[in-house]
Amino acid sequence: MDQERIDELKKRLNEYNYQYYVLDNPSVSDQEYDRLMQELIAIETAHPELLTSDSPSQRVGGMVLDAFEKIEHRQSMLSLGNAFNESDLRAFDRRVKEGVGPVDYVCELKIDGLAVSLMYEDGQLLYGATRGDGTVGEDITHNVKTIKSIPLSIQESQPMEVRGEIFMPKSSFERLNEQRQKEGESLFANPRNAAAGSIRQLDSSIAAKRALDAFLYMVPEASRFQCDTHAKSLDYIKQLGFKVNPHIRLCHTIEDVLAYIEEYTKKRNELPYEIDGIVIKVNDLEAQQQLGFTAKVPRWAIAYKFPAEQVITQLKDIIFTIGRTGQITPNAVLEPVRVAGSLVQRATLHNEDNIKAKDIRIHDTVVIRKAGDVIPEVVRVVKERRTGQEIPFEMIKVCPHCHEPLVRQEGEAAYYCVNPNCDFKVIEKIIHFASRDAMNIDGLGEKIIEQFYNLGYVQDIVDLYHIKWHKKEIMELEGFGEKSMNNLIEAIERSKQNSLEKLLFGLGIKGIGEKLADHLARHFKTMDAFLHARYSELIALDDIGDVLARSVIEYQQQAENIQMIDALRSLGLNMTYLKEVEDIQPNPFYDKTVVITGTMERMNRKEMTTYLQSLGAKVTGSVSKKTDYVVYGEEAGSKLDKARSLGVMTLSEQEFFEEVEK
Ligand code: NAD
Repeated sequence: MDQERIDELKKRLNEYNYQYYVLDNPSVSDQEYDRLMQELIAIETAHPELLTSDSPSQRVGGMVLDAFEKIEHRQSMLSLGNAFNESDLRAFDRRVKEGVGPVDYVCELKIDGLAVSLMYEDGQLLYGATRGDGTVGEDITHNVKTIKSIPLSIQESQPMEVRGEIFMPKSSFERLNEQRQKEGESLFANPRNAAAGSIRQLDSSIAAKRALDAFLYMVPEASRFQCDTHAKSLDYIKQLGFKVNPHIRLCHTIEDVLAYIEEYTKKRNELPYEIDGIVIKVNDLEAQQQLGFTAKVPRWAIAYKFPAEQVITQLKDIIFTIGRTGQITPNAVLEPVRVAGSLVQRATLHNEDNIKAKDIRIHDTVVIRKAGDVIPEVVRVVKERRTGQEIPFEMIKVCPHCHEPLVRQEGEAAYYCVNPNCDFKVIEKIIHFASRDAMNIDGLGEKIIEQFYNLGYVQDIVDLYHIKWHKKEIMELEGFGEKSMNNLIEAIERSKQNSLEKLLFGLGIKGIGEKLADHLARHFKTMDAFLHARYSELIALDDIGDVLARSVIEYQQQAENIQMIDALRSLGLNMTYLKEVEDIQPNPFYDKTVVITGTMERMNRKEMTTYLQSLGAKVTGSVSKKTDYVVYGEEAGSKLDKARSLGVMTLSEQEFFEEVEK
């Protein structure tokens, strides 16, 4: 079994090496390649008897094209070991310390280009060579000479080799691809492949046109130039006129290294060239020598690779979500995969046209991108991986919620459900539930709810209380850190303790506003009593007429409402009225029906309502014979008149407070 898998992995990695190094045209992402390589290394480590010297894990991946003259490297040009996370880096640090004790590290950007060896003799550039298979490289002197930042002569008479990276700046890469597109030529996948494809040309006029550049980062025999550290050797070549990257930093501890990585993970997109990681090198050259090399990599350096922003995975299904406006969005359900450090299970497919243009089918292998964007997207299909079992996409014709036909307006890509009674109100319902006057969940605004809904994290009110299941994914969304996520989870948990009236209002029962919810909660005291209330009992209450009573009965009769409330109850939401009678000091307004009218001086209307409620009063909106008091402020109008005509007790604001204070 292991042998079979090893054979399969070797075959695939060799094929990918060929596409990458010889054709400069990879068919898989670097992360997919790295993942397969890690799997191969893991099996070989567990079963050393299966390890062979021709395994791709043991060899520098490059190859030498016959079209070029060959150059044998004086010292092998190796690859670098990989680190993918903090623990890999700490393990590297431990290995180094075990070997040579505490050391300083030099952190450098890992330029995404291709390695070059430059050889100078008598101060003149003798040749430039690719890394090739590590032992033998290709002579690319004619092309190297077209790179303006590489000096053709230097003030150093001893033979000197300098190594670095040839790369194509992002702007040149974009220009090149634009031009190729215009001319109907195939596009380069990324600046690295464009640089490699340009430098490995027999005709140097092509490289000359392609605006290549080079950073130099290593002197193989630095001690011959009176340098005892790597940092000094970089200073020296800078003095000689080589271009050395300015973002190099000397770090005394692994903590400093981690901070550097964090800093450049953020700054990476601002750089004018691509980097795919950070290289960490032991600074002291003697320590480097003591640590030595494996067959493929130095033991004194490691490359930290940035997490993938594009990865390959399987599209398992296409589902449809609906926005507040009724817009229908198709979404990919994915085989969970890590992208940019987070686990992704859904990606947007935008609309029907996008799916058709990319010919995305269910069961396809797809490339997913998440580059600082909130919602990951499907970039393309890997058509080479099709098995024939894929199911072509068909846009739905009716709304997934209300089953009414969808509408696509002229000139718009999106379909809409235009049924005003459609369940797309579901988002609105969740927004209402979380709002300040209802469950008052801090940090859960409209946009966030819509985003969570579209990502499939929150499809109904109950899902809000499961949000912690998606903590990791949400923390990767723009604007969410660990702290804000913890705050949100806490606010959601806190809302479980709300008194019944908040929950009743939050349920969004037709016609039941904040005040009525309070009234109902105060009267029924528990959710159960409310759910079993009869029409006759409801209609007998102040402020509840036939329409509202029927709305409540209708709500009680819908099984899904009862199921939802049961689910909320089992999640620990409070279902009772908490403004306990005992908490309220005796006062003349306790259990009285009060109407407020006019403009108050000491408090606004809302504050006044809350204050009265805290006294145990029921605050209602209209004056009737059932009203006990009308409290009036400035410019009170018809309500005051009505109260007087009905003989209801009226109190000015001042009188009211005097009564309370008594
Ligand atoms: P590497 O890219 O992981 O690291 C070594 C290389 O880093 C060096 O050779 C050098 O060219 C470069 N580098 C950049 N900046 C540097 C600096 N400051 N100091 C030192 N070196 C620096 O190893 P590799 O062997 O060149 O390539 C293997 C990697 O290439 C894989 O891990 C994968 O990501 C990619 N690859 C992809 C495919 C594919 O099909 N997508 C195929 C083969 C390889």
